[in-house]
Amino acid sequence: MGQAERTGPDAASLTGVVDGVYAWVQPDGTWWVNNAGAVAGEDGLLVVDTCATESRTRRFLGALARTTGLPVRWAVNTHQHGDHAYGNSLLPDSAVLIGQTAMREGLAHDPILDSCPPFWSPPPEWGAVTRRLPSVVLERELTVHTGGRRVELRHPGYTAHTPGDVVAWLPEERVLFTGDLLFHGLTPLVFMGSLEGALRSLDWLSAFAPEHVVPGHGPLLGAAALDAVLGAHERYYRFVLEGARAGIAEGMGPLENARALDLGEFADWADAERIVLNLHRAHAELTGAGMDLMAALGDAVAWNGGPLPTTL
Ligand SMILES: [Zn+2]
Repeated sequence: MGQAERTGPDAASLTGVVDGVYAWVQPDGTWWVNNAGAVAGEDGLLVVDTCATESRTRRFLGALARTTGLPVRWAVNTHQHGDHAYGNSLLPDSAVLIGQTAMREGLAHDPILDSCPPFWSPPPEWGAVTRRLPSVVLERELTVHTGGRRVELRHPGYTAHTPGDVVAWLPEERVLFTGDLLFHGLTPLVFMGSLEGALRSLDWLSAFAPEHVVPGHGPLLGAAALDAVLGAHERYYRFVLEGARAGIAEGMGPLENARALDLGEFADWADAERIVLNLHRAHAELTGAGMDLMAALGDAVAWNGGPLPTTL
């Protein structure tokens, strides 16, 4: 690539959200390309999420060390997904890793890191990351005090994006790290969670009344943009639920249901094929049937006409 401009996760940068609070935003936020962040206190850093691969996580932790000069004392995972948690193993051994109980269970049984199924192209290059689970778990909330800063780790009380979602909330600075309860400008994903719960979580997020929001994927947003982004999520989740109800009534399976739907205003969002995965979850929720994650991913690949596009 020579002098070519950096793109994708290579163009990630550490952004100061407010003094001492950082977001690591990785363009363009697609599959496996997450946001992370950190809160600096006088006595060390609380890291919010790691990244999917060794190289991305090393870049993130390197930028934090250069910018702050502080050691990582704590880290929290906003949920169990590998894009936010596989890099945990590159945190210092002395760092205390925190997650919700169900998040810890989910990562413990994550099947993808050991043998990634061929659902993505190019296949992610994990590098030297291994599964590292939280050593401290919370159920509903836990507060970390780091050098005069207060960081509240909060679970909504129900399954939304996943069963073990946690947001990191700084009440003084009014900064909210939402994890994947928000995808900014990309198609939301709830196939391992709940449509009803994801809908409920939007009001819960809004009630924090944050001034600065770090979404799980996509660009940062401020208070002025939050309502519109929450509203778009709400419309999408309702669209999936209504589409699923209609499809079930006509005896369709999730893939056929997805093919029959016109995505309308959501067609422009990246990772549109998530409609198939979200419909799998909606069908399971509405019919009470179980859901096969691997079959759902296979259907998403079929809808897409090939593996789901990601980036190295
Ligand atoms: Zn994610």
